[in-house]
Amino acid sequence: MSTWHDYVQRNGALPEWPYPVNYGKVNEVVSDVLVIGGGVAGLQAAINAARMGTKVAVLERGHAKRSGSGGAGVDHWHGAVTNPCSKVTPEMYTQACYDSMQGWTGGHVRYIITKESWDTLLDCEKMGVQIRDAKDEFKGADFRDEKTKLMFAYDYKNRHIIRVWGYNIKVKLYEEAKRVGVNIYNRVMPTCLLTTGGKQGAKVVGATAVNTRTGEFYVFRAKATVIATGGVGRLFDFAPEVTASSSMGDLNAAGVGEAIGWNAGAEFVCMEKTSPGRLAGYAYAPYSMANAHNTYHGTPIVDANGKEVPWDDAFNRPIKKIQGRFLPSEGQDFILGEGIGISYYLEQYRNNGLIHDLPERIREGEFKLPLYADLTRLPEVERRSIFGMMVGNEGKTRIPIYDTMTKAGFDPDKDLFQAPVMPLEGYNHSNFWAAGINTPPTIRSLAGGGFLVDWNQRTNLKGLYIGAGGNLFGGGCHGESHTTGRYAGRHAAEYAKTAPEPVADKQQVEAEKTRAYSALKQGKEGNGWKEINAAIARIMRDYCGQYKNEQTLNLGLRLLNELKTTELASAYASNPHELGRLLECHSLITVGELVIKASLERKASNSILDFHRLDYPAMNPPEWNKLLPIRQEDNKVSVRELPLDFHLKAPYASSYEENYQKHCVK
Ligand SMILES: Cc1cc2nc3c(=O)[nH]c(=O)nc-3n(C[C@H](O)[C@H](O)[C@H](O)COP(=O)(O)OP(=O)(O)OC[C@H]3O[C@@H](n4cnc5c(N)ncnc54)[C@H](O)[C@@H]3O)c2cc1C
Repeated sequence: MSTWHDYVQRNGALPEWPYPVNYGKVNEVVSDVLVIGGGVAGLQAAINAARMGTKVAVLERGHAKRSGSGGAGVDHWHGAVTNPCSKVTPEMYTQACYDSMQGWTGGHVRYIITKESWDTLLDCEKMGVQIRDAKDEFKGADFRDEKTKLMFAYDYKNRHIIRVWGYNIKVKLYEEAKRVGVNIYNRVMPTCLLTTGGKQGAKVVGATAVNTRTGEFYVFRAKATVIATGGVGRLFDFAPEVTASSSMGDLNAAGVGEAIGWNAGAEFVCMEKTSPGRLAGYAYAPYSMANAHNTYHGTPIVDANGKEVPWDDAFNRPIKKIQGRFLPSEGQDFILGEGIGISYYLEQYRNNGLIHDLPERIREGEFKLPLYADLTRLPEVERRSIFGMMVGNEGKTRIPIYDTMTKAGFDPDKDLFQAPVMPLEGYNHSNFWAAGINTPPTIRSLAGGGFLVDWNQRTNLKGLYIGAGGNLFGGGCHGESHTTGRYAGRHAAEYAKTAPEPVADKQQVEAEKTRAYSALKQGKEGNGWKEINAAIARIMRDYCGQYKNEQTLNLGLRLLNELKTTELASAYASNPHELGRLLECHSLITVGELVIKASLERKASNSILDFHRLDYPAMNPPEWNKLLPIRQEDNKVSVRELPLDFHLKAPYASSYEENYQKHCVK
């Protein structure tokens, strides 16, 4: 195998740009449905739209076979409450999420997810993803149902979170998309949404885009468009050299979907909601350190002297037996599970965990650092399912963690596995390897806000639908993204069937082409995309961090605008890749502005949104208990008020099921 070093030593120079470059060449693609972002949500949208007989194009920044946060795999699938073993109903699950978040999550999207998550997983099974213990490797285990051979996580009694062998899930979706005739355009990124007459707030009729290898320009015309570009990374911090290995995110997640939606006039909610930033260069490779939760849920943790750390239930009562870690305790309806896109849990749905006062007890000397995972203390089936099945299938773990550790001689039957040594508060975090404590407190991430959609998962713009985890209000994680993508794809196809031919506005296309290529025409002394991205992150950290007021927010807006009109306007791209990254910087600034504008509109602090206005310090004043949908109209901010339970109020019906039955496309 030849390495990068071999190449440089052999040739004494960096390689030439390996693709033919054709800046300015225009390609036109016409389809019924255009999906922007070919992650798990996007491919599901594409597959389901194509199955309904529509012509579908996918516009993907990376390569859809493995791209996105879900590209490297998944080991547990949430929200599958309609599986034959589940004791939880869609109403129970939706209400539990909604109540836990005190209403600050899209209940309608949650309901759609729980109605269809299991069916979506069955679809994945048909595509070739293993979702059952077909070889009977875990026969007789507490977490296995003998009849269906399904295996469950977190709550072995209520059985709604399914363990899956998902290392190949993205590849299988990709193959299915190809099989049903979806046209996938890889290495392409959008620069804007096309709208009727080029007007903000008008019907969406496709997108313009640039190929980040050839530099060619694309005009995608489509009757319906689905945005499925995932979340927004790189907004509050930027550490690209280490991000790839230690991030839960994806370097391509630069908020482009949100930015083009905002510029087209789409409505957003809760963009002011942030949480402590995680990872992105500061913590450890995902799942690479000992932990008791998430994929490692239930794993015994011992201290440097081999003394085991006890477990507590959701009410901080001791759990005596290992089996109790996987069961709801007295007073609990069921355990919701972690990694579902909500940040607060009512006690009756919260997970069991290591003792809540572990940091203090370490400080007092009761437990001695470092801590270790001791998988040998688990029953054999639990041990094998964690270090084997789960770690072998979870995203970014099969090769970097499972293979590397196994080849290096790690044997879970005898060896201990060290936890990070970190400030003590980190031992209260459910993911030791990701503990926010390892990330400077100035760093935040967007957390739960996104596009506002109706019961069809349509935005306020005709022709524009959203399928996603990260950027959909009410979205969740992996299974939720598949499920919302599948639902959005069906609705987009249904709409496209009767929609008129999409007409692109020539002026809009020309203006976009000029804008997209402007970095190529700048002087070579101009800044590069990395400097600009670092500056954006600095402005967001300083002026829209955890604590803010009117002045800091307005200063942030001013500085973002100065950056855009000076350094970014004169920034230089020397190849199509850099051009793509600079275009992402434009999007990051746009999303930064959206976040700051949303923050200015909420003149109250809010604990669930982790939103702290120093000029409005009173926490959760009841008169601010409302959503503030925000959009652009004639390039000016327009805000309205919406009750948290708008999805069960007129014009909608008052029950979840009635709305679902009325709106779902069968
Ligand atoms: C290591 C890891 C482990 C995880 N484990 C689990 C788990 O076990 N269970 C669980 O529920 N969740 C898990 N998640 C979360 C889950 O993977 C995500 O919630 C899910 O992948 C989101 O799906 P998505 O399609 O919305 O976004 P993504 O999967 O991120 O896909 C977005 C797609 O859009 C593309 N894109 C982005 N920008 C552009 C652009 N400008 N133009 C065109 N295309 C663009 C991207 O390249 C990508 O293909 C994990 C995540 C990680 C990183």
